[in-house]
Amino acid sequence: MYVVYGLLALAIILSIQFANPFQPSEISYSEFLGHLNAGEVKKVTITESRIEGTLQTAEGEKEFATSRIPDTDIKDLLPKLEEQGVEFSGRVENTFWRDFLLTWVLPLGLIAFIWFFIFRRVSRRIGGASPMSFGQSKVKLYDRSVERVTFNDVAGLDEAKEELREIIDFLRNPQKYRSIGARIPKGVLLVGAPGTGKTLLARAVAGEADVPFFSISGSQFMEMFVGVGAARVRDLFEQAKAKAPCIVFIDEIDTIGKVRGGIMASGGTEEREQTLNQLLSEMDGFDPQTGVIILAATNRPEVLDSAILRPGRFDRQIMIDRPDIKGREEILKVHARRVKLAPDVDLKKIAARTPGFAGAELANVVNEGALLAARKSKKEVEQEDFEAAIDRVIGGLELKSRVMSERERRVVAFHEVGHALAASLMEHADPVHRITVIPRGIGSLGMTMQLPEEDRYIMTRPELEDRLAVLLGGRAAEEIVFGEISTGAQNDLEKATILARKMVEDYGMSERLGPISLGLERGARLLLGEYSYGKEANYSEATAELIDQEVKELITGNYRRVKTALAENGRVLEGIAEVLLEKETLEGDAFRELVEEFRSGEKATLAERG
Ligand code: ADP
Ligand code: MG
Ligand code: ZN
Repeated sequence: MYVVYGLLALAIILSIQFANPFQPSEISYSEFLGHLNAGEVKKVTITESRIEGTLQTAEGEKEFATSRIPDTDIKDLLPKLEEQGVEFSGRVENTFWRDFLLTWVLPLGLIAFIWFFIFRRVSRRIGGASPMSFGQSKVKLYDRSVERVTFNDVAGLDEAKEELREIIDFLRNPQKYRSIGARIPKGVLLVGAPGTGKTLLARAVAGEADVPFFSISGSQFMEMFVGVGAARVRDLFEQAKAKAPCIVFIDEIDTIGKVRGGIMASGGTEEREQTLNQLLSEMDGFDPQTGVIILAATNRPEVLDSAILRPGRFDRQIMIDRPDIKGREEILKVHARRVKLAPDVDLKKIAARTPGFAGAELANVVNEGALLAARKSKKEVEQEDFEAAIDRVIGGLELKSRVMSERERRVVAFHEVGHALAASLMEHADPVHRITVIPRGIGSLGMTMQLPEEDRYIMTRPELEDRLAVLLGGRAAEEIVFGEISTGAQNDLEKATILARKMVEDYGMSERLGPISLGLERGARLLLGEYSYGKEANYSEATAELIDQEVKELITGNYRRVKTALAENGRVLEGIAEVLLEKETLEGDAFRELVEEFRSGEKATLAERG
């Protein structure tokens, strides 16, 4: 195409240049003067810029043309021409066509040309060469034989894989499930921080199931024209149903799945809502037995519209956590398969040096290490190359915030063990399920999970007090070990305060106030167009003061209680925190074993071992 345009342009220029059918030979002005002096010039026509004429030479008549030297020559020339008896005349140049072409046709042509190109690029961006194809989804259908990814390429994430195996099995032989009447979930939502392998896992599911895999990113539904997104969703589902059994993967679903109906609905959000509504109605509309399974991924589950998570839609959610030290080693192994490793490489050490890294960053470390080794013309990647690569990846801007300093990690570890140990020391607390110092999402540096042994509908005052003690255990541990308090306990304090207030106000658990329910008039108030549920105070100022005192007493009392209990078990706290720092995650059983071992003196802390 470009060649054709180029040739056309050239043709236009040439035809302007050589529009004149008769072409006199061009001579220089001095040559012309020579001819004139020799008496060979028969006739001339003088125009503003040129002199054209006829020469009378020995070989006969010859047309010639020359450019005039501006301004200076004509006065000298005229007498000479007269002298030589040359027939001369003047002519006003007819530049109409040239001017017309230059001032009108050419610029207009250029504008049309540019406009045409812009339009083509735009229409290519909105998917297709013509505006008629806007509504088609830009879904990508992976070729299974070429880009096949399997679970072998995904390290760790065992729990997630286990859950997805069921879906893979269903896609492989749906008959088995159908005949027994089992309902397979329509949608599965993968939730996790960026780079933890959600997209990779989704592709691995397709690879394992060996079914067509449609992949589209949430942002690809959104275009500049209203209604396009909804049309694309429809198109996507039509394609998928035709290819069932298959997997539809919607990456970054939060771009369309944000909470609907804000106060500040603008044009953009309206388009998004239409797209989301279309997606929801498509999901409701098809029978899961058709064998279309929808996977979606997000790293911002908190912004998702709750309608998305309703049963029959994405009713199954799988958390993809950042890997712990063992997981990181496995991920490094997967990626190290592709590079030549020197014998001195210790992937375990690399894993230990990269707390907080997600899979994407680890893949990056391996690649950077290989690049560094190659630059130094090494045959194999050595440990030092990986060490340098880690520094480089840590240096890579945004990650910095996620990688904690050694001191911060210690604070977090003691804080979490404080919660966990408090849970095991308090008689009525729920058992610890897992402790981790791996940052999880924003604002959470570590976590202690407890699982209740049974569903509770009624809780007694001692149980609630123990719950308070566990909530405050993190802060108490920090104070015992470091003698100072960090900001890390903010969320705990918030929860503890709410709980204590409920105990006093709602459950009547304060002796001084007695069995009175306080402030229980819940009512809906219209606030800024939204209903807000709040409580109206139905007690006096004096009672309010008493409530505050009682809440404070509950909290400080239990704080003292848990601090004493933890201080008495100082070496258990220390020992387990050390193990946690090394392993990063402790399951409940391993934790309880450690408590026993440290308590009985079977295991020694680092300090005790010297
Ligand atoms: P997400 O979609 O969660 O943001 P990706 O799936 O795009 O993350 O992961 C980015 C890259 O990180 C992958 O292509 C892969 O190379 C690497 N990666 C992430 N997690 C893992 C894992 N568990 N095992 C192996 N590689 C991983
Ligand atoms: Mg992704
Ligand atoms: Zn805490």
